[in-house]
Amino acid sequence: MAPMVDRRSFLQTLGGAAAATSLAAQPARRYDLLIRNGEIRDPSRGYKQRADVAVNDGRIAAIEAAIPVESGIEVIDAKGLLVCPGLVDLHTHCYHSATGLGVEADPIAARSGVTTWVDAGSFGYDQTPGFRRFIVQPAQTRIFGYVYLYPSSRNPDIDPVKYARGNVRATGQAVLDNRDILLGIKMQVGANMNGRYSYDLLKVARELCDEFRIPMMAHISFAPPETPQVLELMKAGDIVTHAYNGHTLGLVDREGKLRPGVQQARARGVVFDVGHGLGSFNFPAARRLLDAGFPPDTISTDIYNLNINGPVYDMPTTMSKFLHLGMSFDDVLARSTWNPGKVVNRVEGMGTLTPGAPADIALLEIEDGEFRLVDSQKNAVTAKRRVVSRLAFCRGKRIRATL
Ligand SMILES: [Zn+2]
Repeated sequence: MAPMVDRRSFLQTLGGAAAATSLAAQPARRYDLLIRNGEIRDPSRGYKQRADVAVNDGRIAAIEAAIPVESGIEVIDAKGLLVCPGLVDLHTHCYHSATGLGVEADPIAARSGVTTWVDAGSFGYDQTPGFRRFIVQPAQTRIFGYVYLYPSSRNPDIDPVKYARGNVRATGQAVLDNRDILLGIKMQVGANMNGRYSYDLLKVARELCDEFRIPMMAHISFAPPETPQVLELMKAGDIVTHAYNGHTLGLVDREGKLRPGVQQARARGVVFDVGHGLGSFNFPAARRLLDAGFPPDTISTDIYNLNINGPVYDMPTTMSKFLHLGMSFDDVLARSTWNPGKVVNRVEGMGTLTPGAPADIALLEIEDGEFRLVDSQKNAVTAKRRVVSRLAFCRGKRIRATL
């Protein structure tokens, strides 16, 4: 019988301790992160099955039925959890500490699974450098923004149309110059704020977006202008947010009929977004829209510091409201990952779990029980299921509430 060879000392005689370590370690440690035993849900390709996910260098390296546990440096057991693309919230206010409404993305992301945040009009073009330096760059999550083209001040001496005309060129140019983080412009439309957000103001935005070939996100609230007038100015790739509000500038009338121009706008590629917020999500209106066959293209929170402790709370709570209204989890998930990822359109594969895609991952769970959910007008329902997030990763790294 041959004598037992001490492998370690054998390798040391060949190449020293360093060689021994690397040669011995290599076969067992191929992946930075291994998420095992979860139920994978990738709405971008209708992939739904139990499998393991391996991550390397911030990207999805493999999705296979069984990947050996030894091949992961960090191993997460996701048994009983849904392994989903990281959530993409298309309407937030996360320019924290510098704008009135801003919340800090990372601590909320750690508990809610939102790996991509889009700030929807917390700042004008001239605050873009601060947005990049103090919000986007230090964040563990991905952050993008739409800049507004209206005066931040409610000072009645500032005429919004004049302000917009005076800032059109600088705003358009800023969006083009900062394409990596800016997606377009944000407008408010409606009779609130003493009619400051008028039809004429929206027309200035239309001209800007045509000239610079950039999209706009328009918030709708109270008529005038009327819904068809607003929608006429919206083109493919533009976003109508607060689409499930119960106000006069909304998509559906009290009898449940879609207002003129709504279907046509969707048909030509206008995106309809939830943007829940403090005033803009209404259960009866949402029910009427779903009954009329008009689900949202994207589900988003419009989260800010006045609604974070209710009624919005977070993205999983907003998703739960659409689950309660009868949408399937897969439909809700597609509108919270893949669809808004396509609107952002800055990171290939974002909002999916395909090999090669960024490893932005949320481990979600659907809880059974009795959960009180409240809309912006204090209408309450008792839901039998709710979505919760257990763990989130962005670029392959676990998002932590504090660093
Ligand atoms: Zn908003």
